Amino acid sequence: MIVTRIPPSPTGHLHIGTARTALFNYLLAKQNGGKMLFRSEDTDKARSTKEFEQEIIDGLHWLGLTWDNEGEIVRQSERVSIYKEYLLKLIDDGNAYISKEESKTVLGTMVEVIRLKNPNKKITFNDLVRGDITFDTTELGDVVIARNIDDALYHFTVVVDDYLMGVTHVMRGEDHISNTPRQILIQEALGIERPIYAHLPLILASDRSKMSKRHGAVALKEYREMGYTKEAIINFLALLGWNPGTDRELFTLPELIENFSVDHIHKNGAVFDIKKFNWFNREYLKKYSDDEFIKYLALEEVELPYCFNPNSEEFSRVLPLIKERVHTRKEAIDEIKAGEYDFAFITPTDYETDLLKWKNDDSVKTALPRLKQALTLLENADFSSMENIKSALWLYAEEVGKGELLWPLRVALSGKERSPDPFTIAFVIGRVETLKRIKNACDKIGE
Ligand code: GLU
Repeated sequence: MIVTRIPPSPTGHLHIGTARTALFNYLLAKQNGGKMLFRSEDTDKARSTKEFEQEIIDGLHWLGLTWDNEGEIVRQSERVSIYKEYLLKLIDDGNAYISKEESKTVLGTMVEVIRLKNPNKKITFNDLVRGDITFDTTELGDVVIARNIDDALYHFTVVVDDYLMGVTHVMRGEDHISNTPRQILIQEALGIERPIYAHLPLILASDRSKMSKRHGAVALKEYREMGYTKEAIINFLALLGWNPGTDRELFTLPELIENFSVDHIHKNGAVFDIKKFNWFNREYLKKYSDDEFIKYLALEEVELPYCFNPNSEEFSRVLPLIKERVHTRKEAIDEIKAGEYDFAFITPTDYETDLLKWKNDDSVKTALPRLKQALTLLENADFSSMENIKSALWLYAEEVGKGELLWPLRVALSGKERSPDPFTIAFVIGRVETLKRIKNACDKIGE
């Protein structure tokens, strides 16, 4: 049976790279009827916290990535006696030693450096993603495996734990490739079997350097707070370093279990494309019913513009528009706060008349005959769809110039420098209100 593992170090927020590693391990296990195991690698006492551990667990579970451990959470900090037993065995067998020169007394306690005897040989391991990888271990020297008999270091604990937990496949980030020969030396010294390795490509920022905080958010939590849905996150992460071998892009978690294959994991770095991420999120938002979308927006948690009333008839008219335009909750909230949807709730009156002036016109007066013609055309137009409103105006817009007509019209309807297009607004507010606003604009210019 295939047994994979996700062993995060709880020294920081759940990183999207860790979430991707968890996803790939989950997929490999699940599609083979295997298991994925979780382990908290909290040996760095100074930097590990229970809060980070909980955040990582909650985040992975929120994504739907669950594990198959039985019983309590496996924490390396609670396994000191196990590592000690294996360290003693290595020392007894003559495969490791306490380095006398490096051991010293610090603040009254003896600190012993324990090193693995390096057989100085070439090691070749087969990586499922990269094929055979060979290292000459000579340059590694005698690897430090513990800072005391009860303080084993990462390379040692990871090998012992993977062995005791029955891990068959170690799939992790490419930054661990250089650790692998050290870990294989430890396995060989302990006389335990080597697992199968697969190293996942790095996640890169758009400038192709390793993705880090300076490029933007790297914590899953931040994306969750912006309103990226778990479905979109899973789908986007799956395609960071893997492809299905076809053009298909949309996959649910169960569909990924079915379609995933290690053969299609890329060797090259995977670029984190936020535009693509946004596209995925919108694809999943589209599937929401109006009620689901309202719940998703959680407007009750937001300070809204005074006119913006989520319990009004106007809101239900503008809702589909918001849903169609935004990629994330954050985007929706930002636009709502900026007043981009106020047009649905109030008749704009106090905007500057000059805002109605198209940039190529010398005077705002030039807009007046165009707005009057728009009024005539819209009086008889069919308001049952946005398309019909558009076709009522389109020929005339082409005749006088699109900006020449549509700019003043949009400002007349919204009173804002930025807003949706005039056809969309007219459709949302209806004929009576549309005609009223255009007349207001004409009056403003006429004064
Ligand atoms: N605790 C290690 C990390 O978070 C995992 C190492 C491994 O997968 O072997 O990077």
